[in-house]
Amino acid sequence: MKERGLLIVLSGPSGVGKGTVRKELFSQEDTKFEYSISMTTRKPREGEVDGVDYFFKSKEEFEKLIEENKLLEWAEFVGNYYGTPVDYVEKTLSEGKDVFLEIEVQGALQVRKAFPEGLFLFLSPPSLSELKNRIVTRGTESEEIINNRMKVAKEEIIMMDAYDYVVENDDVQLACDRIKAIVTAEHCRRERVAPRYKKILEVE
Ligand code: 5GP
Repeated sequence: MKERGLLIVLSGPSGVGKGTVRKELFSQEDTKFEYSISMTTRKPREGEVDGVDYFFKSKEEFEKLIEENKLLEWAEFVGNYYGTPVDYVEKTLSEGKDVFLEIEVQGALQVRKAFPEGLFLFLSPPSLSELKNRIVTRGTESEEIINNRMKVAKEEIIMMDAYDYVVENDDVQLACDRIKAIVTAEHCRRERVAPRYKKILEVE
């Protein structure tokens, strides 16, 4: 039987650049993780493709997925549902591949409960003012949404305690390098490696 893959969860405040870091990671050839595409009821933004960026669902379809326990976690975020398909995650981990989730913090906390052995990475902004700057300059949201997102972000930063590592996003490339270094180190962790060696040597 194949050794199970590692579940890597990248989370952090809204606007910190989770999506940008994730896209950069997956554009790099030496990135070996499998990206779990989320489900959402949010409307596609320009250029977004169904089945690539998200699986876009109606509210009814999403609620059915919740009822049928098809989601590893889900959350309502700024008026829309977002969730992770559990079958894909389970199947990919059991094939021995690392699965990468990029999700907001309520969802990450749910995953922590279901998968305490996962690797939880908190992407942090260099500062809160920088965070507001980034949300405003993105220019796609109304002032009300920006203020709402800022409030949520402050609460989220307090939640840093629930994570294993904090990755500062001062520079996208550096953040990607840090994430890869952490994953490499995690694969060498004694608790993960020792059972395999003990099995080979048939010791307790
Ligand atoms: P956006 O609408 O900007 O694509 O995403 C909004 C937020 O939802 C981001 O913080 C993103 O990380 C988060 N998100 C994306 N997919 C999921 C998911 O499957 N579950 C949860 N809980 N959050 C998600």
